[in-house]
Amino acid sequence: MRLHIGIDDTDSPNGMCTTYLGAILYRELSRLAEPIDLPRLIRLNPNIPYKTRGNGAVAMTFEVDGKLIPEIKDTVLFYVNQLSDFTHENTNPGVVFLEGDIPEELREFSFRALREHVTIEDAERVAKDVGADVFKFKLGRGIIGALASIGYPLKRFTYELLAYRELNNWGTPRRVNAESVFLADRWGYPFTYDNVDPYKRSVLITPHGKDPVLVGIRGIDKGKVLQTFERVKFGEPIAFYQLYKTNQNTDDHLTPKKIGELKLYDSAVVRGTVVKPYWERGRHVFFELEDETGKIRVAAFEPTKKFRNYVRKLLPGDEIIAAGGVKEHEGVLTLNLEKFYPVKLVPKIEYRKPRCPRCGGTMKSKGDYLKCKRCGYKMPKKLIPVEVPRELERKVYEVPPDARKHLSRPLVLPGGEDSILKPFNQKA
Ligand code: ATP
Repeated sequence: MRLHIGIDDTDSPNGMCTTYLGAILYRELSRLAEPIDLPRLIRLNPNIPYKTRGNGAVAMTFEVDGKLIPEIKDTVLFYVNQLSDFTHENTNPGVVFLEGDIPEELREFSFRALREHVTIEDAERVAKDVGADVFKFKLGRGIIGALASIGYPLKRFTYELLAYRELNNWGTPRRVNAESVFLADRWGYPFTYDNVDPYKRSVLITPHGKDPVLVGIRGIDKGKVLQTFERVKFGEPIAFYQLYKTNQNTDDHLTPKKIGELKLYDSAVVRGTVVKPYWERGRHVFFELEDETGKIRVAAFEPTKKFRNYVRKLLPGDEIIAAGGVKEHEGVLTLNLEKFYPVKLVPKIEYRKPRCPRCGGTMKSKGDYLKCKRCGYKMPKKLIPVEVPRELERKVYEVPPDARKHLSRPLVLPGGEDSILKPFNQKA
């Protein structure tokens, strides 16, 4: 019989990682039952506030002898009890078991957890309907992610290899040879990607917190992911590593919506017109976008770095498709931009001074008249409208790798533009 196991919310910023627990369980349980495929790392709604880092939950499925189910459940609950960081108030583990096939209602719940905000009560109701066995620790909010990760269809997927540190190294700087990461990346790219930021010359595979992850290597080809990992040189021992199948970099979180429909914590793609000139506050760039149903503030925040330069080139009247997550910023509902595509750009007109009609010299502004710098000729200030290039191409613009959401698909991958172009019948 099939047994599905989902786990979430075992970690905190002070340590641990649900994937670490998942990797240990996958190994332990594989002694008792036959694993069906790899364990799954499922990223859910990236905009919800309770997440520690990337709102990831872990699921795995086994073919089991029914008699062993109690032992398997005990093993899972034992490890969750042993390894969760219960000291942190925002750590509320949840474990879910489901036997048999995945009902449609559970599939739908997974997509809601990916794209909207759901409550613990919603999860409990769905779990009861589908006959899942639910275990809550403390508030037990983790049952949302645990249940959603079991039901997630994972039609599109990528891989992530996670290598973990020896316990005595947790919390110390990670010793990974940067040069070897650049070389490995050059070898594996684009089958593995986001290993480095080539512009900043920085390594992206190492997290920065106290968690047990040494490196995470992402890719669309599992062989290449493993071989890229083998090319990286480490200055500390690796405790063990695990390959996960994941919905990272699939853009699964984005759904086409009307601006008037957008709610807090949604992830969406909208099409609209830029309302007024952009403005900046604290290095963040903002503009307003509207369609026939409403208006929303859109932001390219400081960490998106050079991406903001493209946003600054937008003008009132431009029609664009914008993808991102809805969050509250300074009390205002704000679409946190991940990608955008200019559909129709208004002409950009600049007003320039004419040449001197008498000698062809350069004119200088003097209040409401113009004066020739060369011959002194004076005339009323009448500027000439000139259309200048827009400096935005008809292509999708995306945030840089280190500002990218786990779920966001890089443009370098096949289909990286689909989620933003297809719903609106656009071609790049
Ligand atoms: P890590 O990425 O290191 O595993 P995390 O970012 O996944 O950490 P969690 O500690 O798992 O963070 O916390 C996320 C919490 O939010 C979990 O309790 C999860 O059940 C819950 N959750 C997930 N999706 C939703 C959603 N759509 N609505 C409400 N709560 C959600």
